[in-house]
Amino acid sequence: MKNNTFSCFALLFLPSFCLVSQNIKVNNIKENIQFLASDKLKGRGTSSPEELIAANYIAEKFKLSGLKSFNDSFLKSFSYKKNLNPHDTSVVNIAEQKANNVVGFLDNNSPITIVIGAHYDHLGLGHDKNSLDANPENKIHNGADDNASGTAGVIALANYFSKNKFVEPFNFLFICFSGEELGLLGSKKWCENPDIDLSKINYMINMDMIGRLNDSTKKLLIYGVGTSPSWVPLLDSIKTGFSLKTDSSGIGPSDQTSFYLKDIPVLHFFTGQHSDYHKPSDDIEKINFKGEVDVLNYIIQIIEKTYNYPKLIFSKTRNPDTGRKGFKVTMGVMPDYTYDGEGMRIDGVTDGKPASKAGLIKGDVVIKLGDTEVKNVQDYMKALSNFKKGDTTNIEVVRNEELKKFNLTF
Ligand SMILES: [Zn+2]
Repeated sequence: MKNNTFSCFALLFLPSFCLVSQNIKVNNIKENIQFLASDKLKGRGTSSPEELIAANYIAEKFKLSGLKSFNDSFLKSFSYKKNLNPHDTSVVNIAEQKANNVVGFLDNNSPITIVIGAHYDHLGLGHDKNSLDANPENKIHNGADDNASGTAGVIALANYFSKNKFVEPFNFLFICFSGEELGLLGSKKWCENPDIDLSKINYMINMDMIGRLNDSTKKLLIYGVGTSPSWVPLLDSIKTGFSLKTDSSGIGPSDQTSFYLKDIPVLHFFTGQHSDYHKPSDDIEKINFKGEVDVLNYIIQIIEKTYNYPKLIFSKTRNPDTGRKGFKVTMGVMPDYTYDGEGMRIDGVTDGKPASKAGLIKGDVVIKLGDTEVKNVQDYMKALSNFKKGDTTNIEVVRNEELKKFNLTF
């Protein structure tokens, strides 16, 4: 609020400055991350009261930017199922929970809309077994980079595009997703029950962890460049000081996946992995605010380039190259990426491979593999990387609401 007071004050004396310059400001990024990643918000755990405070904060920012809401509220609630006994997999106690995505629309009277998103939830107090801390319980996981940084990015871009001096040729839909850390829940739910026709979405830009730009390497990762034939030539046409590392796949461990699976071109921006990832030490002191501003200005350049193109054509990509992540084994199953419950649902089983030999069938929901609790596809991938060929392990699945245990040999 302090900053807004200053802007209005400045407006009285420097009107041209305030109206013309709509650049992304380091101080705004800092202020928003500071609030979202403060201890007061207790790590923004999905469905927590503090996550709701974050949602209302984002909604207020959307309102100040002049965005429109659908159905009289920027908050759009969804429900999901959660096992309330995460520490005892022998008791499957599934309960319905509610959480909110935050959605704001910039209507430029175009038939086509660009979606800009980021998840705003994080790991809360470390109760959901997603933390990589040795002793996570009751420690605040502030998630400054993951993903207060991306959320601040959405707020900044909403302000930038809505206060621009000209009317862009496309509408913009800004969404801050909940439940990403529990398995892309918010983005999946929004795509199942969207506020606009999905076929009218030009493309989706996702920002997840954009606050740790390394000033010496300038490395910036962009995932999803194969999801439209236009992305690579478009990126090539922009001069940038970043050292870009691109990946073609539309499927990755963040919310762009939900849109890609609806045949929408996507790009995911990421300043790279670090040792504080999913730990209580992912704090604001380590954020590179100026670096984030540079990333956002680059994203603006990319978006403005697309004004010269008609609606982008979608293309399917190969699945992520799991070999790169060091998988030495396969179970021979196809994960169901659209499943929104807890665990990893098997969408298909290949005959003669370990899962089929162990007795697993399509529809089984894997909740534990070896010693690892499996909450979602990402956990499953992580668990799988622990094994090598010839290893035998136990696997727990839910089949028709019944817990079943198998031995599986890779
Ligand atoms: Zn994240």
